[in-house]
Amino acid sequence: MNIHEYQAKALLSRYDVPTPVGYPALSEAEAKEAIAKLDGPVWVIKAQIHAGGRGLGGGVKLAKSPEEALDWYKKIMGMQLVTHQTGPEGKKVERVYIEDGSAIARELYLGMLIDRSTYRVTIIASTEGGMNIEHVAEKTPEKIMTLSVDPVTGLLPFHGRRVAFGLGLTGSAAKECVTFLETMYRAFIDTDASMVEINPLVVTKDDKLVALDAKMNFDDNALFRHPDVFALRDETEEDPAEIEATAHSLNYVKLDGDIGCMVNGAGLAMATMDIIKLYGSSPANFLDVGGGATKERVTAAFKIILRDPNVKAILVNIFGGIMRCDIIAEGVIAAAREINLHVPLVVRLEGTNVDLGKKIMVESGLPIISADNLADAAAKVVATLKH
Ligand code: GDP
Ligand code: MN
Repeated sequence: MNIHEYQAKALLSRYDVPTPVGYPALSEAEAKEAIAKLDGPVWVIKAQIHAGGRGLGGGVKLAKSPEEALDWYKKIMGMQLVTHQTGPEGKKVERVYIEDGSAIARELYLGMLIDRSTYRVTIIASTEGGMNIEHVAEKTPEKIMTLSVDPVTGLLPFHGRRVAFGLGLTGSAAKECVTFLETMYRAFIDTDASMVEINPLVVTKDDKLVALDAKMNFDDNALFRHPDVFALRDETEEDPAEIEATAHSLNYVKLDGDIGCMVNGAGLAMATMDIIKLYGSSPANFLDVGGGATKERVTAAFKIILRDPNVKAILVNIFGGIMRCDIIAEGVIAAAREINLHVPLVVRLEGTNVDLGKKIMVESGLPIISADNLADAAAKVVATLKH
């Protein structure tokens, strides 16, 4: 799960990570109040969306007076913000953050994430702050330093000193770097974060370290023990199809191919996606309907698949083990009737009562293409795209 910058900053500052003073504003009245609470001389008005690159897209503005700050608030609130992470359609801004402006001497990068290959928290630091870190990693990898934290010892002062040295910090900023990392690491571990990114981490003109931007991701499987973090979820930032899928206990991930897949079991779903690729097309989604594929769930799954305008055909690949194939066939038929299916449907059933299941589909009179095995199913569904 992702949260907004202002939420991440509030959370980090609870752990004493230094952040500028700021207030979220969801209305003009709140914006006026926020602007009045800050002394200036510079106000920063920031669009809150779950995407980076807001600055370049016009979603971060500096103001030199309360009037100018309010003007920027009015321009940013409700705008359709396009950044390199939103796609060309952009994202509507529905929350704005108003912050005390910082006098910046240097912009640096500092991140922490779970490294799946070392099973450790990795610290990433770079002198190239304020830019897209993927870009820095590609063009000038030597400007990125990484340090791994041993979970037995946790973060140690030497990590902070190494980062300070790597970032070329001196004097009080170098000392603060040790504390900064400690507080950030504590926030990371305590909240079961999977990623914290401070980009930029700035050295101010009076030699202080401040988190000028903050992004946090959390491990979804640990959210049950962090109700306060879970409460920060902003569903308007998530894919509506994925939200609906979660509500029906379906495991759905949207992809960008042509063939909608409805499969039971994650392993079979992966195999189905692979074989679609092998036959020259690509899956529009990953969808695991789980063990108890009832008519209601199958119907919900069809609806979710068909919300995606890219879907040109559907492949249902279900192994009837505990679930009988005849029940699944009835579910598929009922769902296909209810939603008025307008794309070709290929069904491959295997398992208990498979013959009865196929018979039910044939007798339904619906234009369902029946397949005998995984390869046959993939060949048939890919062939429908060529007509
Ligand atoms: P992003 O573009 O979505 O990553 O948004 P950021 O929060 O990182 O802001 C983008 C850029 O705006 C930063 O890299 C800074 O250069 C600038 N900026 C943000 N806050 C301030 C501030 O308080 N003072 C000054 N001078 N610049 C700021
Ligand atoms: Mn940033």
